[in-house]
Amino acid sequence: MFLYLSSPHCQQHSNGWGHPENAQRVVQIGQALSEADLLNNALQKTIQPTTEEDVLRVHSPTFWETLKKHLPESGFVKIDDDTSLSPGSLESALTASGAVLTAVDAIMNQEANQAFCNIRPPGHHAERNRPMGFCLINHIAIGAAYALEKYSLERIAIVDFDVHHGNGTEDYVAREHRVAYVSSFEENIFPFTNPVSDLNNMLKLPLKSHSDGHAFLKAWHDSGFDFVRQFKPQLIFISAGFDAHKQDPLANLNLTEQDFYNWTQQLMQLAHEVCEGKVISVLEGGYDLKALAESATAHVKALQAL
Ligand SMILES: [Zn+2]
Repeated sequence: MFLYLSSPHCQQHSNGWGHPENAQRVVQIGQALSEADLLNNALQKTIQPTTEEDVLRVHSPTFWETLKKHLPESGFVKIDDDTSLSPGSLESALTASGAVLTAVDAIMNQEANQAFCNIRPPGHHAERNRPMGFCLINHIAIGAAYALEKYSLERIAIVDFDVHHGNGTEDYVAREHRVAYVSSFEENIFPFTNPVSDLNNMLKLPLKSHSDGHAFLKAWHDSGFDFVRQFKPQLIFISAGFDAHKQDPLANLNLTEQDFYNWTQQLMQLAHEVCEGKVISVLEGGYDLKALAESATAHVKALQAL
């Protein structure tokens, strides 16, 4: 069974007029999945917003209090050049994390095998003590921490194909050796982190600007998928950012919808090998609305295929 999670609450957060990270992203993905008949047989559930306790497994109390304190009653508060808080921001962020926790429960209780969380704002740049890069709290890290504690899991893998490196998720796995993290990204762009990792539980796959799908898939075939295989995860999370698409305005890789389909198909084969196909995919970036909707559709098609 395939589980699809989304909520109008994820449309409440706003970064201001004209910002690429906007509510239309989840709206257009939802419409495209529906038009492609990919939701007809999907299980859908009501999302409970995540609790403070869940957030605090990953983020510091000071960070959380600061976010709450700065939440405006109207207008916007800028956190950095790219990221803002609006009145509905925490409602969106807590619902987004809540979707991931709902997916963890459904999969661990065998109601579903794969899940796609069509949520925003994204999360993988949010560090323990710092929101940044359009991200407020780190949903995938909050989901992994919850799964480790509630279901006593010992090994979880997070795979991340967003065009930007997930510095927030790296910050989390540096403190959590039960989670392995593989991230492919365009080198020398935001967040400008070291392209090499010295952590045993993390593999970075930097890609040169203008790389195409062939180079992307080769990097994962050569080392990324094997790194996951050897870790023997009991559950796999995907940080699914579609901003490596050739039409995306924020980066310079040249992937197509077909590349996202092929990558997802390979990941699903691996997931069936190591963890009975238990996969939770969570939306991260992707800022060309048409390319985003088509890429997410290709991704979900492959998630459902096996
Ligand atoms: Zn991104």
